[in-house]
Amino acid sequence: MEYLSLSDYLKDKYGTKVYKLSLTTGCTCPNRDGTISYGGCIFCSEGGSGDFAAYGKDLDEQISFAKSRVDAKISSKIPASDRKYISYFQSFTNTYGDEEYLMNLFKRVLDYPEIVGLSIGTRPDCLSDKMISFLSSLNRQKEVWVELGLQTIHENTAKLINRGYELPVFDDAYKRLTDAGLKVVVHVIIGLPDESDEDILETIKYLAKLSPTLFGIKLQLLHVLRGTRLAEMFEEKPFRIYELNQYCEIVGRCLKELPAETVIHRLTGDGPKKLLIAPLWSGNKKLVMNTMRSYIAKL
Ligand code: SF4
Repeated sequence: MEYLSLSDYLKDKYGTKVYKLSLTTGCTCPNRDGTISYGGCIFCSEGGSGDFAAYGKDLDEQISFAKSRVDAKISSKIPASDRKYISYFQSFTNTYGDEEYLMNLFKRVLDYPEIVGLSIGTRPDCLSDKMISFLSSLNRQKEVWVELGLQTIHENTAKLINRGYELPVFDDAYKRLTDAGLKVVVHVIIGLPDESDEDILETIKYLAKLSPTLFGIKLQLLHVLRGTRLAEMFEEKPFRIYELNQYCEIVGRCLKELPAETVIHRLTGDGPKKLLIAPLWSGNKKLVMNTMRSYIAKL
């Protein structure tokens, strides 16, 4: 079966491969600083579910550091002047902080001619109308995506993972964002404790119904990472961990439920290997992607 991958979407739109620059706003998260809870989501690692940005550096330094990391992997056949990037604020909650400061930061990022878009990871309960309206104005210059960590539509699982908000909060933020013309990417975790394949598919079907406004989905394999509450739970009472073939199967079923125009931003995940407890096969990203692609191609 075919699906619209993020790289295909970007290539089609910009005529070349577009690379992500992992940046940080320096924001923390209300689910970790005590505003909602101190514990955070049970799977969240010290890096705030994003461990690749250069902390403690100003924006220009961050961009140049992120570009040097990305450029080291790009073929020298692509001249520096032809390279295009999406800036990605992934870690923690990137609209949780001083709004003037954040707006200035987001605007400055898009002033870089080689940066064609902005992606902001956040929580649906941290999006003021003022911020949405500002992002909407930026979106008229270059594309802006807002990434929301929904993970599941099921309230019992949401409580178990300590997500800290209920489904209507997501629904409201989603509507305000899409009404403002912004592109929303929804994160879903596959393999949360106590969730069956059918539970996961219910989440996916719920999101599929948002089409045609649903821009993208990130399917993320649950990683059990050292130092998280999830790791303690796993040690106390191990829960089901997908084998690679089972994971391919459930991903295939999810893709079948989604509209063809939904951009699939991710099919697995990239938790830091040094913290990975389970599933260990996920540490071999090449093997995972090759197996997944060949499985999906046969569907
Ligand atoms: S909302 Fe994000 S940063 Fe905050 S605790 Fe949950 S996963 Fe971590």
